[in-house]
Amino acid sequence: MKDINHHLTDALLMAYSAGTLPEAFDVVVATHVSLCDECRARMHEFDAVGGSMMEDVGTAELNDDSFEATMALITSSDWAEEPRPIRSTKGIFPAPLQDYVGDDIDAVNWRKIGGGVQQAILKTTGDATVRLLRIPGGVAVPDHGHRGTELTLVLQGAFRDETDRFGPGDIEVANEDLEHKPVAEDGVDCICLAATDAPLRFNAMIPRLTQGLFRI
Ligand code: ZN
Ligand code: ZN
Repeated sequence: MKDINHHLTDALLMAYSAGTLPEAFDVVVATHVSLCDECRARMHEFDAVGGSMMEDVGTAELNDDSFEATMALITSSDWAEEPRPIRSTKGIFPAPLQDYVGDDIDAVNWRKIGGGVQQAILKTTGDATVRLLRIPGGVAVPDHGHRGTELTLVLQGAFRDETDRFGPGDIEVANEDLEHKPVAEDGVDCICLAATDAPLRFNAMIPRLTQGLFRI
């Protein structure tokens, strides 16, 4: 996908490559990487570094035969060059996300959370949560701060906040330092995939009262 202006941090790519992220963050990172040539290339560099470290550790215990067999296996596969296949073109959900929600946007189990905004929480293990958000054009998410990390990946439409504009494929990495009020651009519904590892800090009373209910 072209025209992606906001990318993953090296820290997130490295943690993903090392397999240390909670599942909720893995989904967002994998989905962005499936859309973004630039991050996919950086990811492969981290994978290669991690792989060679594994080799250094592994060769001491392997005899010559099994080492050669392992290397033959590695060099014969072209996994590193190939982007993940996109299983369906009818929806907006890339393959890593289809494992969780299927490929039909209207078949998602959307729940209203107020102000015309709908969400669908994905089933993941661990403390972090990941959800799809569907925000009608022109609608704002109540202004809030963050207690941990929030990753927001745009799948359709666009939103703006105090920092910039985020369009399809763009990812916003927010942390404790950012207070923002994302507003969906006029036009099609803005559909995002958003992961958090701690509850948000809402400034207004109503969202504060309902956030427990909606696990925001
Ligand atoms: Zn990227
Ligand atoms: Zn936020």
